[in-house]
Amino acid sequence: MAENAGQPDHSAARREQLASNLARIRARILEAARAAGRSDQPELIVVTKFHPADDVRVLAELDVTDVGESRDQEASIKAAELASLGLTWHFIGQLQTNKAKSVIRYADVVHSVDRASLVAALAKAVAGEPSRAGRPPLACLVQVNLDPQAESGRGGALPGEVLGLADLIGSSEGLRLAGVMAVAPRGGEPRRAFARLAECSALLRGEHPEATMVSAGMSQDLEEAIEAGATHVRIGTDVLGPRPRVL
Ligand SMILES: *Cc1c(COP(=O)(O)O)cnc(C)c1O
Repeated sequence: MAENAGQPDHSAARREQLASNLARIRARILEAARAAGRSDQPELIVVTKFHPADDVRVLAELDVTDVGESRDQEASIKAAELASLGLTWHFIGQLQTNKAKSVIRYADVVHSVDRASLVAALAKAVAGEPSRAGRPPLACLVQVNLDPQAESGRGGALPGEVLGLADLIGSSEGLRLAGVMAVAPRGGEPRRAFARLAECSALLRGEHPEATMVSAGMSQDLEEAIEAGATHVRIGTDVLGPRPRVL
């Protein structure tokens, strides 16, 4: 492609690497869905945090439509630079209320809604942002903390808090309740954790049938997540390689 003319050779190598990693992940997703006897196809969100905008550009050329980021400062710069690509941006990281205003400028989906104060901050930010006027409502997932030892607080709502938060999102102008999200607890058995998430999703859909998204599964546990019904997997390392720094 003309755009690559004059760029160093490593960009061609990087492209090849991303293409082959992506092919492998897409095959794993298909196989996991087949093994689980699912007729629907889980969607891939490629988590691009810590990787440069150039990588995201290549991914878009390889038909990636959805990308995930977890740090507002980094994400806002990349999303602005890549606005013309028409990607769907997923914010998947822990979100401070004072960052809500920035995140809602570029994010289409926020996976990490875990407390009432954040729902209020997101709704207020959407209402106050002129550029959101012509856009669909901000899709919000309730992040569930699946650690059985968990206490209320950071890193996800307790399972018992999900319905209350969901009602709050559902009744907030400018927000759309889309489903649930979780990360399997470190050192735990992912199958058991994702089964708890599936229960939360079923309860949620009982009250809000439209909230069908189940965002679960990372490089290490996408098969278990798909087996438990994940509709969206969030894959970083196995597509892009190791991150320069660990979160
Ligand atoms: C970084 C991250 C991922 C991707 O994890 P990998 O193990 O690199 O695939 C998925 N979900 C969340 C919430 C993350 O922060």
